[in-house]
Amino acid sequence: MTGNSVKDCTKLTRRGALKTAILGGAALAVPQVMVRPAQAKAPMLGAMVPQFYRFTLGDFEITTLNDGLRPGDGPHPTFGADQPAETVQALLRENSLPETKFVNGFAPTLVNTGNELVLFDTGLGAGARANGMGNTRNVLAAAGYTPDQVDVVVLTHMHPDHIGGLMEDGAPAYANARYVTGETEYNFWSAPERMSGPTERVAKMVDGMVKPLAEKMTFIKDGGSVVSGISGMDAAGHTPGHMIYMLESGGRSLVLTADTANHFVVSLQRPDWEVAFDADKAGAAATRKKVFDMIAADKLPFIGYHMPWPAVGFVEKMDVGYRYIPNSYQMQL
Ligand SMILES: [Zn+2]
Repeated sequence: MTGNSVKDCTKLTRRGALKTAILGGAALAVPQVMVRPAQAKAPMLGAMVPQFYRFTLGDFEITTLNDGLRPGDGPHPTFGADQPAETVQALLRENSLPETKFVNGFAPTLVNTGNELVLFDTGLGAGARANGMGNTRNVLAAAGYTPDQVDVVVLTHMHPDHIGGLMEDGAPAYANARYVTGETEYNFWSAPERMSGPTERVAKMVDGMVKPLAEKMTFIKDGGSVVSGISGMDAAGHTPGHMIYMLESGGRSLVLTADTANHFVVSLQRPDWEVAFDADKAGAAATRKKVFDMIAADKLPFIGYHMPWPAVGFVEKMDVGYRYIPNSYQMQL
């Protein structure tokens, strides 16, 4: 018996004595708790984050999938790359965030239109699994789908954290899918001259992961359709052919903003600050303002690939930039 149980017995004994006095019988006075076997301690289970989040938008069902969470140093100098560290840290302090550590999330998104199952981006893939990421296919299964059911895989752009899950053991991870991506993006990364210099690492990955699927790919431009109710919008800057997607069903809309803004405070409250991963720094800033002006004005929900898990939120315009409002119950109504 544990020390706690002994203490409890002491209390119960006093209460038992009272009971004895009232009932006048010693046998009735033994509290039942005294003879119950001691409970095993519950095991510690570790921190836990939900793996998927599903809601409806008109007739669509939308599920964000948690490919993994990556804690690391930052956000500076990746975010606010053109700013002194102290300036970025002051903004983080104002927002109750750590100054030198942050957690980056990766949120591929599955849309069931009722007719097609459309997956936006594929996560980091097998290469990241040793570090607890690259979980999209498993999470998709946990959310109630099989990879074979995916009809369309859309690639918002071709950075490794978006294309890394296209292949599993050298075969397409979504065996029955066709693919949709931006024409400009594909042409940029598949051009032979990208295979050396600063673009080499990503171009090699595109060569191994994306090019083998090109025959099953539809290349779209601004306004191009994926399926009925889902259309692409040019959002260049982060990469040369980065595209975002407007989802519309039953009179409701949501914007899938991919990597337009990648830190919910630094990128949204200070959209002009440079981000190391943006290929065209000024172009990316102009796109951020254009896209989030629209989302704020129309009060649209959006899903950002790197927004705080489960990656669904809203923005409100501030004097400079935007305040991020994480979804609470809005998408349950
Ligand atoms: Zn990304």
